[in-house]
Amino acid sequence: MSGLAVNVSKTTLFSSGIEEAEIQRIATRFGLARSNLPVRYLGTPLCTKKLSFSDCDPLLLQIKKKMSSWTTRALSMAGRLTMLTSVISGIIGRLLKLRSKAIEFIRISIGNGEATYFWWDPWTPFGSLYSYLGQDGPTRLGVPLFALVSDVWNGNSWSLPEARSNCQLDLLAFLTTISPTDIPDSPSWIVNGQSQNLFISRLVGEAIRPNIAAKSWAPLIWHKGIIPRHATTTWLFILDRNPTLDRLHSWGLDVETTCLLCGLDNESRNHLFFECHFSSQVWSFICARLNIFTPPHSWNAVLLWLPSASPERALKIALLQAWQATVYCLWQERNARFHSGLTIPAAVLGRNIHRIVSDKANALVSLGHSLGPPLLRIWKPP
Ligand SMILES: [Zn+2]
Repeated sequence: MSGLAVNVSKTTLFSSGIEEAEIQRIATRFGLARSNLPVRYLGTPLCTKKLSFSDCDPLLLQIKKKMSSWTTRALSMAGRLTMLTSVISGIIGRLLKLRSKAIEFIRISIGNGEATYFWWDPWTPFGSLYSYLGQDGPTRLGVPLFALVSDVWNGNSWSLPEARSNCQLDLLAFLTTISPTDIPDSPSWIVNGQSQNLFISRLVGEAIRPNIAAKSWAPLIWHKGIIPRHATTTWLFILDRNPTLDRLHSWGLDVETTCLLCGLDNESRNHLFFECHFSSQVWSFICARLNIFTPPHSWNAVLLWLPSASPERALKIALLQAWQATVYCLWQERNARFHSGLTIPAAVLGRNIHRIVSDKANALVSLGHSLGPPLLRIWKPP
């Protein structure tokens, strides 16, 4: 155990869809104060929409309070000025720390070269030339450390010696593409090699964030014929987050781990989908409706098989619907057996799944969705 504990005085209770009396009971039982969404930090709402001025009021109030407290009231004019300067320089210091991150996204287009430092500003594809050519660059090229780009242009050509390294050669090759003009230099934002007229924080954010490879299973979950509750349940099983009996047992709960569907092996995700004798009958039943008679039955094999099982778009989607509906309905059946002991035979469950997907196809037809008719042909009502 980490030893971390919930601080009740700093914790509030958020609720939704619960009766008032029940919320009251929970709040009293845990000694928690109640609060309303959105969640706030320092009085400011934590949400993705743009904050309004009134949203920031609590924060501004706190700053004002700080500024007018006895410590600041007791300060002389000079003292207040020093305090403000230290606060402002702290902010500037933090911004300056971000300079190395920001400079990757800035590129200066040379006009007359009079506002751009030769060694320091990002006006070439190599970034700062001081970093690119090294500390002895100014000496080797004979260009002073704080020279402007215009200082190196004599009106007709660049005043630079012959290249003596590959990096210098790169620079000279680049300079052949540039001829200073009369217009001022202009900075622009470059994100992923594309010049942007405006600073778009989303693009820069995406470029800074480490690339998270798209999850290979994502297209198996999210598709055009989706039934949301089926997709969510299947997604949780892909993450192996549902409370199967093997997981409950591994958390130290005293539970019988025998599969409630077949009564033969221990229940786990991989057993339920579809190594279990009962599940395998349901899976075979629904696949046979798609004229697939030898589908794989192990969890990993199904995941590998689904993307390439059919080249035809509607059939591919029908197969994903069938898979997710089977996972969902088998889990429902398992839960019904766990909680109430009621059971449905495999053949009935298979027919129920067929009815659900065929209802979905009908719904898509009524909505005028182009996938409706082909899916309805595939899922002819049972
Ligand atoms: Zn089983």
